[in-house]
Amino acid sequence: MASHSIKEITGLFGYPVEHSLSPEMHNAAFNKLGLDYTYLPFEVKPERLKEAVMGIKGLNLRGVNLTIPHKEEVIPYLDQVSKEARLIGAVNTIKNKDGKLIGYNTDGQGFITSLKEEANFIARDKNILIIGAGGAAKAIAFQLALEGANSLYISNRTISRAEELVLTIESKLNEIKVDPVPLEDRKLEMIIGQIDLVIDTTPVGMYPKVDVKPVINPKLLHDDLIVTDIVYNPVETSLLRSAKAVGAKTVSGLGMLLYQGVLAFEIWTGRKAPVEIMKEVLENKII
Ligand code: NAP
Repeated sequence: MASHSIKEITGLFGYPVEHSLSPEMHNAAFNKLGLDYTYLPFEVKPERLKEAVMGIKGLNLRGVNLTIPHKEEVIPYLDQVSKEARLIGAVNTIKNKDGKLIGYNTDGQGFITSLKEEANFIARDKNILIIGAGGAAKAIAFQLALEGANSLYISNRTISRAEELVLTIESKLNEIKVDPVPLEDRKLEMIIGQIDLVIDTTPVGMYPKVDVKPVINPKLLHDDLIVTDIVYNPVETSLLRSAKAVGAKTVSGLGMLLYQGVLAFEIWTGRKAPVEIMKEVLENKII
């Protein structure tokens, strides 16, 4: 007779969830370490979020990840929220600690870890240009500020949104110089010489529109830059291709996806994540 051992259950709350790579990535990691855990996708409609979160306690799930559209809305339903997640105003990982739900944000830290692992980049004292002012930009910007970056320039198609993000950061952290910049060649030209890292947080270049012009003019790029695009499908976007062509160091968005998962895995299990196998799963899934 087949034995039905009780597993520790983790998963993803999102709407939609069917294209997520997280179930395969986490299940491969649990298998690799022989842990009696599983990771399931849960399609949670926005109006059911509160009940779903209460279900984590009711069903004694070990924890979950959250994706669009739940990262911000979930906060009022949690018992405790980490400093980073509180600052960013978004939670992507919940841990059920003896019936208490603790919220974390591993997106920003995942991004920082990928830059450290793949380009040996340390944010302290650096000058950074972030393109985009949405959810991902916010998580990355706060984490860079917490890591001691010297200055952040936030450039966005809709400049009012960049200005809003700048104000939000300034109202919560006072040791970082942060400025909005219009997404125009002339304005970017004035600052690019002092920039160490360019981060594209927009969906520009994402599959299937892979042959679009990069979100910033490639003529602005130079070989002293590290250029990263958080789009991971394709792994090499048109921006990264242009950056490579001028001799800049490049980092793809795959690392951010990988390390946000690595950190969530470690939060839930208390074990060091098998990074290589998780990376392999992602690389095999994304061409
Ligand atoms: P979001 O909140 O909707 O923000 C999107 C940002 O991109 C906005 O600033 C928007 O500018 C800008 N944008 C959109 N289309 C543009 C265009 N055609 N030209 C110039 N700017 C444009 O989205 P998000 O949650 O931050 O996610 C952004 C991207 O990051 C998505 O592609 C997502 O898949 C990716 N992502 C990757 C990871 C990872 O692990 N690698 C993690 C999170 C997100 P406006 O304000 O002008 O609309």
